[in-house]
Amino acid sequence: MEHIRREPKAPSQSPAPRQLGFTVPDRINHNPEVEINEVAFLNRALKEAITQGATYVHIEPADDGVAVRFRINGEYQEFVREARDVAAVMTRLRVLAGLPVVAPFGQEWGVIEFQSEGKTHLFGTQMLSSVSGEKAVLQVLRETHMDSRRLNDLGMLDGQLATLKSALEQRSGLIVLCGPPGSGLETTAYASLLRIDRQARSVATIELVARGHVPGVHQMEAGDVDEKNAMLRAVMRTDTDVVYVRDLTGVESAALALSAASEHNKLVIATLYSSCAAAGLMHFVKLGIEPWLVGTGIALIQAQRLLPRLCPECRKNALDLGAPPDEQPAGKKKKKRPPEHLMSPRASECDKCDGLGYTDGKILVCESMPFSGHMQQWLIEKASESEVQAAAVQQGMTTLRSMALSLAREGVISIDEVYLHTPPE
Ligand SMILES: [Zn+2]
Repeated sequence: MEHIRREPKAPSQSPAPRQLGFTVPDRINHNPEVEINEVAFLNRALKEAITQGATYVHIEPADDGVAVRFRINGEYQEFVREARDVAAVMTRLRVLAGLPVVAPFGQEWGVIEFQSEGKTHLFGTQMLSSVSGEKAVLQVLRETHMDSRRLNDLGMLDGQLATLKSALEQRSGLIVLCGPPGSGLETTAYASLLRIDRQARSVATIELVARGHVPGVHQMEAGDVDEKNAMLRAVMRTDTDVVYVRDLTGVESAALALSAASEHNKLVIATLYSSCAAAGLMHFVKLGIEPWLVGTGIALIQAQRLLPRLCPECRKNALDLGAPPDEQPAGKKKKKRPPEHLMSPRASECDKCDGLGYTDGKILVCESMPFSGHMQQWLIEKASESEVQAAAVQQGMTTLRSMALSLAREGVISIDEVYLHTPPE
């Protein structure tokens, strides 16, 4: 049985008092027909969000009622717009997320547990106020049947995979997984946890909401940053060998993770919202943490992206039309861009992708920067981010851009996506 914690967590920083009060209709539960309609409306939206692979669902007031938009593969798309009572829909959402329905509202963040086709899905639900009414942003957190993909299946290059596996075998050190939201950091983190021998090592996780149940792991849910830091301090004092911490953005979390890795002999796996490996490293320095602590703590920084996979059928059609092969050389700057139709090959009547040009699923692109004595020196000498990046490349690091370009040359992803989503070298 999966353990699902349903209690909503209040953020540490209590939401500001509402500028615009909303009156919750006093007909809640008075009109069963309307209630059922709202439930059916939300059920339909959440079910479709899962089917379409949305990462976020926005439910918001529209001129003529309520609009539901999905974020799929980074793009916003409207799913439905209906003439409905926004306040009634929001009230129903608050009930589902375990949030107060009578003003003044105290907690603004909750979790909706949603059952669909035998699986339980969790939606982190943030309520926001605006001049036109209340809006809800739902993040698709997980289904309880955890994504148990193995590290080998994620799509890393052999060298990157070997580097990560080697870091995971160490007794101590900080492994930082960097990237923007939606870059698959949690998937890599969980695949890493699954690789660790949980019989032989004591493993804990600290997250806002546990992504999935992992047998043999002590999973903790922190309602806010303060609670997360308190849990990290507790882990440092206890007999824990490995800890996964989601999001090291704050200075205290970052310093604690480094301290756990260097002074308390823990293996720490952490995620960080940062554009590339060099930026991830410099993040710690910019927070004002002593270079010696950064240097002794960090074992590996891996940056990653998930890029949309081109529809193979459209690609084939584009080539059949006589398109020239992609002539993007890997190592040169100022590349000549390929013809438009090759950048996003698509066929308006393609059955495989409905003319979108992309098929389901994304492909991982990453860069792996193991920490070395050289890097310690760079930190002490206050090297810039670009200098760190250049030196890492000189030592053989495959960058996000170069790995993505290779995939574009193979026709797996579009050149557009490479330039859009990977930092220049
Ligand atoms: Zn297609």
